[in-house]
Amino acid sequence: MKARMPASSNLACATCYGQGVTNTEQGPLACPDCGGEGKLPSPMVLTDWRLRELERHYQTLGGETGQDVQWLVSEVRRAHHALVQILAASQEAADDGDPITSKIKFLANDVLGAYPVKRA
Ligand SMILES: [Zn+2]
Repeated sequence: MKARMPASSNLACATCYGQGVTNTEQGPLACPDCGGEGKLPSPMVLTDWRLRELERHYQTLGGETGQDVQWLVSEVRRAHHALVQILAASQEAADDGDPITSKIKFLANDVLGAYPVKRA
C-alpha cells in the first residue's frame, strides 16, 4: 500500500529565496538545503535527510556513542515506518467517513507532517 503524500511543502526555501541555486566562488550550485527545488521538502523528507546525516556522522565516529546513535536512528526509522503504514491504512477508511479512523489519520499525520493541517 502506497501512501498518497506530497513530496514537498509549499514553503519557499529561505537559503536560496526559492531560486534553487546558491552562488559560490565556483559559480552557481544547487542549493544544499532544498536540493535545488526552491521549496522545502515535506517534514517527512526533512526527517529522513536528518536521520541519514546523523547515521553518516556517527558511523565514522564509531565507539559506544556511535553504536547508541545507530540504534536510536534505526528505532526512529521503525516508528516512522509504522506511522506511515498506519496513516496509509487509515486513509482509505477515513475517506469513507469513519470517525475513529479519521482520528487515527489525524494523529498519525500530526506526528509525520505528511499533509498540511487546516486548523479551525
Ligand atoms: Zn534552497
